[in-house]
Amino acid sequence: VVLDAAVSDANKLEKKHFEIPEPLMMGPGPSNPYPRANDAMSKALLGHMHAPMFPLMDEIQTGLKYVLQTENEATFGLSASGGAAMDAAVSNLLEPGEKAVVSVSGIWGERFTEKCLRHGAEVVQIRKEAGLTPSFEDIEKVLEEEKPAVLFLCHGESSSGTKQKLDGIGELCHKHGTLLVVDTVCTLVGEPFFTDAWNIDLVYSGAQKCIGCPPGLSPMTYSARAMEKVMSRKSKPDIFSFDVTEVGRQWGFNGDKRPYHHTPPINIMFAMREALQIVSEEGLENSWNRHLNAHYQLWEGLDKLGLKPFVKNPEDRLATVNCIEIPEGLDAGKLIANAFDKFNLEISGGLGGTAGKVFRIGLMGYNCTPRNVESVVTAFEDGLKQQKFL
Ligand code: PMP
Repeated sequence: VVLDAAVSDANKLEKKHFEIPEPLMMGPGPSNPYPRANDAMSKALLGHMHAPMFPLMDEIQTGLKYVLQTENEATFGLSASGGAAMDAAVSNLLEPGEKAVVSVSGIWGERFTEKCLRHGAEVVQIRKEAGLTPSFEDIEKVLEEEKPAVLFLCHGESSSGTKQKLDGIGELCHKHGTLLVVDTVCTLVGEPFFTDAWNIDLVYSGAQKCIGCPPGLSPMTYSARAMEKVMSRKSKPDIFSFDVTEVGRQWGFNGDKRPYHHTPPINIMFAMREALQIVSEEGLENSWNRHLNAHYQLWEGLDKLGLKPFVKNPEDRLATVNCIEIPEGLDAGKLIANAFDKFNLEISGGLGGTAGKVFRIGLMGYNCTPRNVESVVTAFEDGLKQQKFL
């Protein structure tokens, strides 16, 4: 070859091998995937248009319908992160100038707001302090006043550890011509959730939490009502890669011959198929109970150490992401570092409004076991003793 310039070696990788540490990830996610899901990922690659891919995608779709408890045809895995699935929700369901009512009691409501505003939509917020959620009556009042195109609720606000009650909200939305969008990134498979029975129009989630798959393929489902809205838009959704009608053609839910749309994270699809198989083997009710029991076990242990929950109302507490108040005078960073260095275990700090105020412990998917809960409690006990809090 004839080169126009000398090749710079400045950024050449020197190491022969990068040692990837393997911590026990007990923060708010990602959690360690099921080993079977990890193994499935190392299978040789298939082409995304090769014939065996389509039955695989069909099986993922079936498994996603199970975990989402829906019969929606428009159910699939978006090739993107959970936060990008939020962008997809905004891009598909809102036209510029339309109004969204957004529940904000932590970072995810703030993010949804920001995305709506960038998209040219109008936003009315229902604001609650971190640790609280809006009531049915709060929501009813604002829907009556605003009659928005979309209502956004976060089922599990992972920055503050709250769970949003959803029963009856779908019907309320439909009475006012509103579509209900729900974020289930940190709850799906870990907390009871019923897309169809709760009349929710768009649900998105993440792979890397309670489903027990590595990140990269985000479950999404659109109700018939949501799809009607997409089909009757004046303008096309502005993000081509996330346009549900385009993505859906490759997933085959328009009766299409599955034309190429994009190259998905194929190995993550192998892992997702396996993770959904594991969830199906366990059964959703068993999975929900396993998460709830781990949550009770955690709080029993933390209570003995004198640690207090950030969310005051037990009914509003998530089983999957637990927020623990940082006792006054405790060096939280030191406790977190001690857990990592001594126990190879992740304890997380707060996020957004809860930064510096809470520790966060995730009990999700493969990691949600009595033994791992014991390890978390031991790491807290050790950290507290080290700083003479016990
Ligand atoms: N929503 C919630 C409730 C989350 O917990 C997260 C991830 N922490 C996200 C959205 C964003 O997901 P991702 O990091 O996959 O973009």
